[in-house]
Amino acid sequence: PPLHRQRHQFVIDFVKRNKPKKVVDLGCSECSLLQKLKFHREIELLVGVDIDGANIKKRCMHGLAPMSTDYLQPSYDQLRIELYQGSVTQEDARLRGFDLVTSIELIEHLTLADVKRFSEVVFGYMTPVAVIVSTPNSEFNPLFPRPAGFRHSDHKFEWTRAEFKSWALKVCLEYGYEVEFTGVGQAPPGQQERVGFCSQIGVFHWLGGRQECNMLFGDDAEDVFSYTLLYSINY
Ligand code: SAM
Repeated sequence: PPLHRQRHQFVIDFVKRNKPKKVVDLGCSECSLLQKLKFHREIELLVGVDIDGANIKKRCMHGLAPMSTDYLQPSYDQLRIELYQGSVTQEDARLRGFDLVTSIELIEHLTLADVKRFSEVVFGYMTPVAVIVSTPNSEFNPLFPRPAGFRHSDHKFEWTRAEFKSWALKVCLEYGYEVEFTGVGQAPPGQQERVGFCSQIGVFHWLGGRQECNMLFGDDAEDVFSYTLLYSINY
């Protein structure tokens, strides 16, 4: 299957195993991952955030609205979907305390200063139980039959495995997470070890556990709401 499908399947497999109730997809673009996740009965709140609100309005809303047949599925009683226009460099109190945050091919679109903000906001402020981050692995690039350079003109960087690892381990140390490294998109036989996966993935788990995570929300004196709600629906 194409790489974007493999990345989404990776998230779906994680959801099947871990059964998160509240999931937010950062940089949700045309909401294709949210589309797939809405069929997972354990999820009660499914949120998408993208800086490009026009794209959300144009590409997402119709597809996420329930079809009449959806109501035939009793599992849907609980599902709520919300879409926000907002930047991952800004805090919003409505995104705190989730079970899973996904960031699929997003960070490489940020400047390094904004990646630092992203780390503070996601790991330091939102404090989800788990985070899945995927980003291109630049060591794989020489296998592409095309000129050297980034895979997309909007990419601000593409990291080697060592660069990704160094960012991820720093985040873990600062915010109390542990991380496993993996990826999707296999290299040809014999080259996997040398170049790694086409998309590298870090799966982060909060070391504090759910209980303490909720306790953090005692001091809610100054809740910030910087995102704009574009769409919400209760199934
Ligand atoms: N996650 C999508 C998927 O798996 O199909 C693909 C993501 S696309 C390559 C990158 C997305 O990040 C774009 O939709 C872009 O608008 C969004 N984006 C870029 N900077 C952002 C920011 N600061 N905050 C939120 N979204 C941002």
